[in-house]
Amino acid sequence: MLYIGYGYYPRFYFDWTYILVLIGVVLSLWASAGVKSAFNRYSTVLTLKGITGAQAAEAILHQSGIYDVRVIHVKGNLNDHYDPRNKTLALSDPVYGATSVAAVSVAAHECGHAIQHSENYVPLKIRGSLVPVANFGSAISWPLILFGILMGYNQTMITIGIILFSAVVLFHLITLPVEFNASARGLRILSGNGMLMGDENEGAKKVLRAAALTYVASAAGMILQLLRLLILTGGRRRRD
Ligand SMILES: [Zn+2]
Repeated sequence: MLYIGYGYYPRFYFDWTYILVLIGVVLSLWASAGVKSAFNRYSTVLTLKGITGAQAAEAILHQSGIYDVRVIHVKGNLNDHYDPRNKTLALSDPVYGATSVAAVSVAAHECGHAIQHSENYVPLKIRGSLVPVANFGSAISWPLILFGILMGYNQTMITIGIILFSAVVLFHLITLPVEFNASARGLRILSGNGMLMGDENEGAKKVLRAAALTYVASAAGMILQLLRLLILTGGRRRRD
């Protein structure tokens, strides 16, 4: 979309506020390097119990009275997730059949989401209801704002664009309690049922804390982008 910037509004692209976007990118890269490093490190530490991620997940679900969630194997790395629509808990290659501290920790975290779902945990419900709004917002907000600028600074379009972008930010913010709570549930269960012992619990904490930081980083990145939007559009308004 550079053609818009060069022709009509170069400041939009070469503005100092782009630094805010770059800070978000750096935060994100730093957090994802952190989770990869913690995960790799604890992938080499095998648990004393010797159960796999999949076995841990099955046991935790049953222990929590959940029998209608399927634990499946999904190809890839760090793409583990719980899907509430079809009640499947997907565990990736280094988790499903692995007996490491990292594998059991990630499996327990995903079980945390399944338990949230079965208990109708409110932030999870809010997050679920925001999915379509957030998808719409991330597709439409920037085009709408840029179009608003091209239309001779159409304030209505710009404002709607900013509101839609704020919905995306809100989605990232409500993700935080959902993720932190899933990890807290997972860690509590792991230390309570003896799946992890002694130092293994510390390792699990490190893996899940590093994973949670990636969500904090992306929420921070979104807030910085919103701030940039407000500075760019607000600054222009004052000059008019
Ligand atoms: Zn999660």
